[in-house]
Amino acid sequence: MQNALTSICVVGGGTAGWMAATLLSSALRGSGIQISVVESPDIATIGVGESTVPSIMDFIQACQINLKEFIQATSASFKLGIRFDDWSLPGEQFFHPFGRVGKDINGFDFYQAWLKSVADGSDARWLDYSPGAIMAEQQRFMLRPLQPQNWVQAGYAHALHLDAALVASFLRELCLQRGVNRIEATVNQVVLDHRSFIQGLALDNGGEIHSDFYIDCTGFKGLLIEQSLQTGYLDWSDYLPCNRAVTVQTKNVAPPVPYTVATAREAGWTWSIPLQHRSGNGYVFASRFCSDDKAMDTLLSSVQGRLLNEPRVIPFVTGKRKKIWHNNCLALGLAGGFLEPLESTAIHLVYKTLVHFIKHFPDRDFDGDNERSFNQKIDQDYEEIRDFIILHYCTSGRKDSEFWRWCQNMPVPDSVREKIRVFKKRGQLEHTPGQFFTSDSWYAILEGMKQRPHKYHPLLDAFNSDALTRTLNENRQQIRHEVQNMPSHHDYLQAHCPAL
Ligand code: FAD
Repeated sequence: MQNALTSICVVGGGTAGWMAATLLSSALRGSGIQISVVESPDIATIGVGESTVPSIMDFIQACQINLKEFIQATSASFKLGIRFDDWSLPGEQFFHPFGRVGKDINGFDFYQAWLKSVADGSDARWLDYSPGAIMAEQQRFMLRPLQPQNWVQAGYAHALHLDAALVASFLRELCLQRGVNRIEATVNQVVLDHRSFIQGLALDNGGEIHSDFYIDCTGFKGLLIEQSLQTGYLDWSDYLPCNRAVTVQTKNVAPPVPYTVATAREAGWTWSIPLQHRSGNGYVFASRFCSDDKAMDTLLSSVQGRLLNEPRVIPFVTGKRKKIWHNNCLALGLAGGFLEPLESTAIHLVYKTLVHFIKHFPDRDFDGDNERSFNQKIDQDYEEIRDFIILHYCTSGRKDSEFWRWCQNMPVPDSVREKIRVFKKRGQLEHTPGQFFTSDSWYAILEGMKQRPHKYHPLLDAFNSDALTRTLNENRQQIRHEVQNMPSHHDYLQAHCPAL
C-alpha cells in the first residue's frame, strides 16, 4: 500500500503561502489530498517582493493561470532583465538580460566568437547581440511568439514586475475556486510528537488543525521550521553583508520601463521596480556602514514621484535554514531563507522548492533518503544563486566608500573564486543543467564589471575574420530590425493587458 498523504496544511497567506496552495492544487488534482491555508488576519505580509525572473512564467503555466488576467489583476509590467547603474564605477551602466546573447557559431559558444571579433578590432558591445537588451534599451516589448520564426524571436525571455499584495489576492481567489480550504486564524502553538514530527496546530480562535504535512510560510520567523523544529540557520552574512532594506512605494511619473533598475549606492544599492500603477523602491544596505536614517535619506532623495506609503525598514539575515525539509514540514519563502534581492530570486526559489517537493512528494512513511535528496537539490539552488549575487560585489571596481573598499577584499567562496579564475583564462564557463543562471548571465555581469579573459578558444583563429565580421554585423542588424517592428512596452500593455 502507498500510505498516501491525505492532507497538507500551508501556514501563512503571503506570496509563498498562496503560491504553494495554487501550485499544489494543480499538481495534486484528483489525488484527494485536502489542502488548507491558515491566513492570519493580525500578522501582515512583508509586502515587498515584486521583481521576478522568467520562471514566474513557468509557475503561471503550471498553475493553468490565464496570463492576461494575471497581469491585469496584479498591475504587472514586463521585465526583460536588470539595468545595473554605477556598479563597476560611478557613471557606468550595464544590463543583465534574460535569454540568449548571440547565437552560437559553428558550434562555438557565441561569447568566444565575440571575443575574437573584439581582438580583430570590432567595437560592437557584447549586449548588441542580445535581443532582450536591445528591446530594453528601446523600451519595446511583445510576447515571444509561440512558434518563433527566427533566432531573435527565440532568443529573448521575460519575467514580470508585480504587486505582491494583488498577487496574494489573485491566488487566494483562484485557490478558493479550486477547493482549497482557507482558515482565518493565527497559529498560537505548534504541537510535536515524540519523533519531532508536527502533530497539530493550536489556533487563537480555540480551533486545532491536524494534518499529515505542513508547509511553513510564516515569513522570516519560521514558526514551524525554526521556532518549533529548530533546524538551525546557515548565516551567509560574511559573504553578503547587506542586512537591512528601507522601502517605499511611489506614484509613476512616466510609463513603466521593461526592466528593474539596480543602482549601486554608498553602502549597498537601490532598486526601482515599475508596475503599471506605481513603482516599488528600496535601498538594500549594510548596517555596519550606514544608519537607518542615512539610508532613508538616500532612498528618498533617489525616488521620483509622490510617496504612496510611509517608508519602512526591514531587517534580514542572509542565509537559509540548514534543512528546508525536515520530517513532515517544508519551509517555503522567507521561512526557508533569504538571499538579498539583487537578482530578484526569492519568488523563483519558492517555485523551485515546490517543483523539487512535487518530484520528491512524500507518503506517510516519510522516507529519510527522499528528504535528504530533496535537501541536497535545494541547497545547490541556494548556493548557486548566492554565488551569482556575490559576483556582483567582488568584481566591482568601486573604492569610493568604506562599503565598496570592503568589497575589494571581501571573503569569496572557493566556488566563485574558481569560476572567476577559469573565466579569466579564456572565458569558457560550463553550464550545469538545472542551474538557473546560464554562462551568458555570468558573462553579462563580468563584462559589465569590465572583466575580460586573457585569451579565447584557439580554434577560433581558424575562422576567417572577414566572414566572422560579416556574420556578426548581420546578426546585429537582424536584432535591430526585429526590435524596431515591436510596439513600445507601454503600448503593448495598454493594448493587451491594462491594469484593472
Ligand atoms: P510574508 O509575506 O512575510 O508572509 C508571511 C505570512 O505568514 C503572512 O501572511 C502572515 O500573516 C503569516 N503568519 C505569520 N505568523 C503566523 C501565525 N502565527 N499564524 C498564522 N499565520 C502567520 N522576492 C523576489 O522574488 N523579488 C524581489 O524583488 C524581492 N524583493 C525583496 C526585497 C526585500 C527587502 C525583502 C525583505 C524581500 C524581497 N523578496 C523579493 C522576497 C519576497 O518578499 C518573499 O519571497 C515573498 O514575499 C514571500 O514572502 P512570504 O510569503 O514567505 O512571507
